[in-house]
Amino acid sequence: MSWDQLQYDHSYHRLPEHFYSRVVPTPVPDPYLVHLNTEAARLIGLDHESLTEAELAAVLSGNRLVDGHEPLAMLYAGHQFGQWVSQLGDGRAIQLAEVINPERQRWALQLKGSGLTPYSRGGDGRAVLRSTVREYLCSEAMHGLGIPTTRALSMVGSDMEVYREEIETAAVLLRLAPSFVRFGHFEVFASRGQTEDVKQLADYVIAQHYPELAGQPHRYAEFFLKVAELTADLIAQWQAVGFMHGVMNTDNMSILGLTIDYGPYGFMEAYRPGHICNHSDYSGRYRYKHQPDIGLWNLSRLGEALGSLIDEAKMVKALTYYERRFLQRYSELLHHKLGLFDGPQEGDTALINQFMTMMETSGADFTNSFRALAEVNAEGSDTVEALRDEFIDRAAFGQWLEAYRERLQRSGMSDAERRERMNRINPRYVLRNYLAQVAIDQAQDKDYREIDRLMTLLRRPFEEQPGMDEYTRPAPDWARDMEVSCSS
Ligand code: AMP
Ligand code: MG
Repeated sequence: MSWDQLQYDHSYHRLPEHFYSRVVPTPVPDPYLVHLNTEAARLIGLDHESLTEAELAAVLSGNRLVDGHEPLAMLYAGHQFGQWVSQLGDGRAIQLAEVINPERQRWALQLKGSGLTPYSRGGDGRAVLRSTVREYLCSEAMHGLGIPTTRALSMVGSDMEVYREEIETAAVLLRLAPSFVRFGHFEVFASRGQTEDVKQLADYVIAQHYPELAGQPHRYAEFFLKVAELTADLIAQWQAVGFMHGVMNTDNMSILGLTIDYGPYGFMEAYRPGHICNHSDYSGRYRYKHQPDIGLWNLSRLGEALGSLIDEAKMVKALTYYERRFLQRYSELLHHKLGLFDGPQEGDTALINQFMTMMETSGADFTNSFRALAEVNAEGSDTVEALRDEFIDRAAFGQWLEAYRERLQRSGMSDAERRERMNRINPRYVLRNYLAQVAIDQAQDKDYREIDRLMTLLRRPFEEQPGMDEYTRPAPDWARDMEVSCSS
């Protein structure tokens, strides 16, 4: 279907006018298509093949408005690095429309980098190509890993200059999510004492996205509990693949438990639990090992915002549930990453912890170490070279390996079956920062082949793909000290 044939239903417009602002994207000069994610196009039922690149670029940059699109920017607030900021909002994002696809799923279409809105504050409303490529690649990589995330439909570039630390060029991302509502959407109304608006927003989110709760007597508490659960599951999955978000402000927390707003994110390479991926995070608030606690802190802020709807005891119960749920999910994922599928046994925690400690002392590559574990045979006789090479203390590794093999024998699962299952949990390929950087450097010279290659690779991160071994390498020397900041 072409744009005007899609089915639109603008549910957010039916909320009170002060929840958002109607805006119009500011055109970029001479837009060109950088990449189109045909898989995401299918999600909304868009027949991209009937459109020329120029037509696609015009609509996907926001330059040309389609009949049926009703652009808006949403109001929200948030806690940024622990500090309350009373008003934020979509400063450079514009929701174009909500589409109901042929499977009856709702997808909100949001441009990022499409110009000023009433919430732009000091910003220019733009996004640079560099950060756009980073978000585009990583959101699809996360999807490939099976981790809930916003999706990316397209990137459109323009040679328009954008001023960051250096002069860069502009790009507009079109991203998709069932909803872009964040924790901060609730915080803004609660902070102003507008409890009726908090209730209306909660009713809206429940009706649209948690319909099984609608009409239930304790629906608000149940809703909060569900958000806590989805957030716990999300962060457990982040930890399990070594994903670091980098800016876990409450305005970057999705009410649907999606990974949202990819900025200075990173995937753990040499394992350091205290690693800070965001160069602008001076205190290390959002370092890898803090993410689960930050999830709780952010949920506590959401709980406060919902305070007029939920009693204290139920709030505490949901927060406690978050902690329990996270630990349970994370522990389960770790067991599976080690190939222990027969339920937790005595000694497992020590076995897992020892492995993590060995990785840390050796600065072993997080992704490659877990992936290489699948090579171990329960009965020995293998050489496990790739795994052994990750560790400096060979003797300690040897001892651990003996205990591990003993545990694998007790599990009773065949090597082949375990290997197969582990390889569906421990990815072979993740979006290392330097891989994204290579694609960015080429894209800045208008060569988009590396973006395409990474998209193909990361769509199936668990499968060994011929000729792609070099994409499993840890950062080369030039990229080892690469820094990513909030500048985007
Ligand atoms: P972020 O740190 O990307 O999550 O952004 C925090 C807030 O600043 C959000 O409300 C953004 O919409 C806004 N923002 C970030 N960059 C820009 C920009 N270049 N122009 C306008 N608003 C921006
Ligand atoms: Mg944000």
